[in-house]
Amino acid sequence: GSVSLDDLPVWTPTAGRSEPIRYQRNEKLDLKISVFSGDITKLEIDAIVNAANKTLLGGGGVDGAIHRAAGPLLKKECASLHGCETGEAKITCGYGLPAKYVIHTVGPIAQGGVGETERNALRSCYRNSLQAAADNAARSVAFPCISTGIYGYPPEQAVHEALAAVREFLDVHHDKLDRVIFCVFLPTDKELYLQNLPLYFPAA
Ligand code: ADP
Repeated sequence: GSVSLDDLPVWTPTAGRSEPIRYQRNEKLDLKISVFSGDITKLEIDAIVNAANKTLLGGGGVDGAIHRAAGPLLKKECASLHGCETGEAKITCGYGLPAKYVIHTVGPIAQGGVGETERNALRSCYRNSLQAAADNAARSVAFPCISTGIYGYPPEQAVHEALAAVREFLDVHHDKLDRVIFCVFLPTDKELYLQNLPLYFPAA
């Protein structure tokens, strides 16, 4: 079955962590973050983000899973979009998915290493995906760990770009979104997110 917003507990920071805080608390962001371990295609929310490739015509990993679950009409709509540049985002309907929309974004390929270009592109993926959601009145959005699979971005670096980009977008646009869900497919990614979330969304 599918997983609705009511089944997704809100993330709250655990007290007593020793890391220095990078961002001050913004109380308007309390209750807006969830971490979901599992298959993003099961989420019955407004929008799920797809870690697509530039063609938008489907691929492996989460992209393949989303296209399989959505059915052939998704590919048909994607084919009308003329691809997508790295760091950009394009929105489609969700078709057979429980989610209303799919936001397709293209992460940087990091096989040659991670520099400023890759970091900026990854942040743009998160920022532009959130902007696409807000522009379409999608108030709940789930992200996979963009670029950290086939595209080779080290997950322990990607988590910081993901969290910083979401934090900075929500600081400005908190009224546009109710919930941002980090969909962690691998147990190691769940650990990374739970470890690092308090740096970006501190309790006090
Ligand atoms: P990229 O090409 O951007 O690296 P991948 O799909 O290869 O994208 O991997 C991105 C992340 O998505 C990886 O952490 C991978 O484990 C995860 N993933 C794969 N399938 C799913 C799924 N069904 N739901 C959520 N995340 C998934």
